[in-house]
Amino acid sequence: MASATPITVAYGDGIGPEIMEATLHIIEEAGARLEKHVIEIGEKQYLKGNMAGIEPNAFESLRSTRVFLKAPITTPQGGGFKSLNVTTRKAFGLYANIRPCLSYDPFIRTKHPKMDVVIVRENEEDLYAGIEHRHTIDVMQCLKLISRPGTEKIVRYAFEYARAYGRKKVTCFTKDNIMKLTDGLFHKIFDEIAAEYKDIENEHWIVDIGAAKLADTPEAFDVVVMPNLYGDILSDVAAQIAGSVGLAGSANIGDGCAMFEAIHGSAPRRAGQNLANPSGLFLGAIQMLVHIGQAEIAELAHNAWLKTIEDGVHTYDIFKEGVSKEKVGTKEFAKAVVARLGKKPEILRSVNYSNAPKRPLTTRPPYVRSSEKRELVGADVFIAWTDKIDALAAKLQPLAADGMVLEMISNRGMKVWPDGFAETFTVDVSRCRFAIPEGSGKSTTHDAILALLSRITKAGAEFVKLEGLYNFDGKPGFSRGQGQ
Ligand code: NAD
Repeated sequence: MASATPITVAYGDGIGPEIMEATLHIIEEAGARLEKHVIEIGEKQYLKGNMAGIEPNAFESLRSTRVFLKAPITTPQGGGFKSLNVTTRKAFGLYANIRPCLSYDPFIRTKHPKMDVVIVRENEEDLYAGIEHRHTIDVMQCLKLISRPGTEKIVRYAFEYARAYGRKKVTCFTKDNIMKLTDGLFHKIFDEIAAEYKDIENEHWIVDIGAAKLADTPEAFDVVVMPNLYGDILSDVAAQIAGSVGLAGSANIGDGCAMFEAIHGSAPRRAGQNLANPSGLFLGAIQMLVHIGQAEIAELAHNAWLKTIEDGVHTYDIFKEGVSKEKVGTKEFAKAVVARLGKKPEILRSVNYSNAPKRPLTTRPPYVRSSEKRELVGADVFIAWTDKIDALAAKLQPLAADGMVLEMISNRGMKVWPDGFAETFTVDVSRCRFAIPEGSGKSTTHDAILALLSRITKAGAEFVKLEGLYNFDGKPGFSRGQGQ
């Protein structure tokens, strides 16, 4: 018999310990060969002063096992606590979040009986980079970061996943009609990588109408890949409309480490009552078994779970009079699944993991950084200002030098000078673009920008932030102001 695979296990808070026990009971009865290293995470750790919610030596365990089965935790109210999930994802580079959302019609109520969607969410970048600032009394800012290597990884993962699991189509959602550089890059890379996977269909939707379509006709989608924020929101929507967020499991995959969990939280009001549905964590654990090469155990346990659902043995959250046969608690549900090991569902589609990928899905060609020529052509200087915009322009215009001109002033992205609309509402910070005139073929220097900032300060204006304006092989790497 093959040797046991070391995994790190955390029982979490609220319903966490109950659903973890139930999950481990089922998979170990199915024959999972696991060497469990238990660590403490969540409320107890936060209250001991570990602001990341995890005992400090737990990272050693994760570093050695590289596989983490994690129950939900309760995040204490109040400031200063860091999200354990975000910390773990970032520390271990878990860039792909995989959430299969499948309907179990007619056994679990859903308006979408044919739904079978896998959401592949980018997990490290976008608005979740956690870079936020308050600039002025009026304005807060959060940076949205999309990188080429980060996007190549997640998009390639989505196509590799589709190929490995026999799926036909990968869809990409972005908002690149508005965010032309960030979401535009995500879409562009999607098109580049899609061209390498001729066996798989591909399509792109603008996220707003795509989300509406996903909520209305989820059966039109197969694998959907998205930047972090859209993926976070839409994977919950997808899980909910498939039947219940309580039923969805999730895998967070990195090159050297992976974390498996339920998508729901610790449901503190249901804790300790043997009520919770362990299915979300269990389905996360199924993904884990496939990941660690115990696909045959995953198949046995998953089919027994499907048979249990089909037999109408349901926890309270999915129990429905007339459809369900028996309302059970967490432990009884686990026992019912164990009793069905070796059986397959008759109406629901059974799973077959015999062709599950043997190689890691994270293999990919090395990242090649392009050799585009980067040239500094100006700066957007954000200036705290509450007086009239024309007065700001009058103050700044004479300060432009070294070939740069004051090209425009915008407020919340809308051009307000020159030729602004009197009706445009303004806040107390304006973006002032000093740039070498477009098409001149010239560039500027950091010294020239520093001298400009010094003149701005001496003139009594306060800059709160600066963004360099760069051309790449002569093409602007920055957006124009709305109305420019
Ligand atoms: P929740 O997901 O815990 O609960 C939402 C609703 O779903 C509740 O009515 C709950 O009773 C029900 N529910 C959830 N899981 C269930 C299950 N397995 N079986 C039956 N019913 C279930 O969300 P919440 O109430 O917003 O959050 C509670 C706590 O969980 C918070 O402290 C939050 O920060 C935390 N949380 C943790 C994670 C995580 O650790 N990954 C994720 C989300 C929320």
